[in-house]
Amino acid sequence: VTGYRAPVASIWAALDAAGLAEVLALPHFAQQDPEDLVAVLEGFGAFAAEVLAPSDGPGDRHGAVLDPVTGRVSVAPEVSDAFAKWVAGGWAGLGADPEHGGGGLPRTIALAAEEMFASANMALSLNPMLTQGGIHLLETVGSPEQRARYLPGLVSGRWTGTMVLTEPQAGSDLGGVTTTAVPGPDGSWSLSGQKIFITWGEHELAENIVHFVLARTPDAPRGSRGLSLFLVPKHLVEPGGDAPERNGVRCIGVEHKLGIHSSPTCTLAFDRARAELVGEVGGGMACMFLMMNAARLSVGLEGLAVTERAFQQAHAYAYERTQGRAPGASSEGMTPIVEHPDVARMLVSMRSSIDAMRMLVYSTAVATDLARHHPDADARRAAQTRVDLLTPLTKAWCTDEGTRQASVAIQVHGGMGYVEETGVAQRLRDARIAQIYEGTNGIQAIDLVSRKVRRDGGAALRSLIADLEASLADVARLDGLGLAGPLGLASDALAAVVDAAAWLVAADERDALSGATPFLEMAATAVAGALMAQLLLRARTSGSDGGRPAVAARFSRFAIERLALVPALRHAVCAGHSGLERGSLG
Ligand SMILES: Cc1cc2nc3c(=O)[nH]c(=O)nc-3n(C[C@H](O)[C@H](O)[C@H](O)COP(=O)(O)OP(=O)(O)OC[C@H]3O[C@@H](n4cnc5c(N)ncnc54)[C@H](O)[C@@H]3O)c2cc1C
Repeated sequence: VTGYRAPVASIWAALDAAGLAEVLALPHFAQQDPEDLVAVLEGFGAFAAEVLAPSDGPGDRHGAVLDPVTGRVSVAPEVSDAFAKWVAGGWAGLGADPEHGGGGLPRTIALAAEEMFASANMALSLNPMLTQGGIHLLETVGSPEQRARYLPGLVSGRWTGTMVLTEPQAGSDLGGVTTTAVPGPDGSWSLSGQKIFITWGEHELAENIVHFVLARTPDAPRGSRGLSLFLVPKHLVEPGGDAPERNGVRCIGVEHKLGIHSSPTCTLAFDRARAELVGEVGGGMACMFLMMNAARLSVGLEGLAVTERAFQQAHAYAYERTQGRAPGASSEGMTPIVEHPDVARMLVSMRSSIDAMRMLVYSTAVATDLARHHPDADARRAAQTRVDLLTPLTKAWCTDEGTRQASVAIQVHGGMGYVEETGVAQRLRDARIAQIYEGTNGIQAIDLVSRKVRRDGGAALRSLIADLEASLADVARLDGLGLAGPLGLASDALAAVVDAAAWLVAADERDALSGATPFLEMAATAVAGALMAQLLLRARTSGSDGGRPAVAARFSRFAIERLALVPALRHAVCAGHSGLERGSLG
């Protein structure tokens, strides 16, 4: 089973539980009607299932191919065609500013559409995802001329954007970037250097590609403080809007890689390319974080999106495949494997993890909309603090989870999961990259521990956990759900996180960083699990899928399988650096 069914009702339930109503109550979104938003998501869900998903397998098999003579990069015709239909259907720029042709929707809603895009074709979804980063950058710090010149093309999907940071010697540590931009007499810049691993860095899907490039200016200080951000169009854009003349940037290599085959991962050579400064000289890292923080949320979403698709495949297969006899089976002969308790357990665990991830992703999205558009400055600041805290949790945990759960989906398929024919192997191959790009998950853990916990003494984390404890207490007051045990596990998990955070705040830096990854695992599991309480509170009291008994069953499963383990992780967090010395390896 390779198809995809857009789970609009489940996504909507998570949006609702994560606080979409608070976003829609903002004056900025006064025009948005929830019924229209559901209709947008249903329309996009149908498009994702009917047009984007069928291009996913052919795109994977064809890959991205560089013609060394022309420097052109081609992908499967099914992928180009699906992208063209996405642009023609007016689906690009859903969350962008209406002033430049965008839909003006909350980021929360645009992200829900993005989830369905990434489930249907993750490799292709990266293209609009990165374009969105460039749009956000220009909307925030672009000059009026840059906005007028580049946003209409980017927002409409006629042009696409890239994020161009990495060089062979500068990956996690971008301070080592050597690409250089030299100012010219007319205010423009001339940019030269080589970049690697640039997603959708070259392709034929759009009329133009706008590269957002991190580079060093002459006499700039060493390290990341000396970096600035430049805009380099593939075709030079004249004020009239036509884009005929080719700029000095070309693709000189495309990587062969484990997954996301139809996303070209390009080596780009810049040779005196005409460039424009975005923001200020020396402001490159701040600009990059504007693009990157939005992208980190989108990458976390990819873990969720891949799990949803993998779950649908595993679920369908488990009803089709018959083997053995399940205990207590009523019918004669072999039973569908879904009736075997161990297979049922795998499926319910996956589905519970999807609920937990959705709550984490959309809670971060809601906080993002509040941080951007709340009329009150204090409320904006408080929401931004929450976004800052939730972003590394979402990026790293959901992508770790994507790989874990795609592997479970293969397990449900048995041997057929390991062969390419069923399409579920692609899920695991595609999911793996999300743990690496946009800052490896190790870097996310360091960000969480150093900047988001140690810097404020754990205050932001304690405030989040206090809110989550209040939701758990509300659930405890609901009748007849029999959730005392799971709620206790959730409270214990949150308490263990507070305790471990206090240890990290007091610890020496090397000891604290030694426990960063297990702490992220601890904190994200506890937070995502406790957020499921909000899903329970908002769930319909009856009904099979979205109804409260079903949501309660999934919460219980997450609690006994995952939250129960959280306090044990404290040992790994608080072990410090002892035992990690080089001598331990020999
Ligand atoms: C398919 C693909 C697409 C990509 N797309 C883009 C793109 O569009 N634009 C772009 O600019 N880049 C892109 N990248 C690059 C990607 O962002 C980097 O690969 C990533 O940031 C890691 O850098 P690196 O590969 O140099 O690994 P390294 O930085 O060498 O890291 C190796 C290991 O060391 C760890 N490590 C490194 N530094 C530290 C530290 N200070 N503390 C603790 N651990 C550390 C890392 O966590 C990792 O486990 C892409 C990469 C791939 C593979």
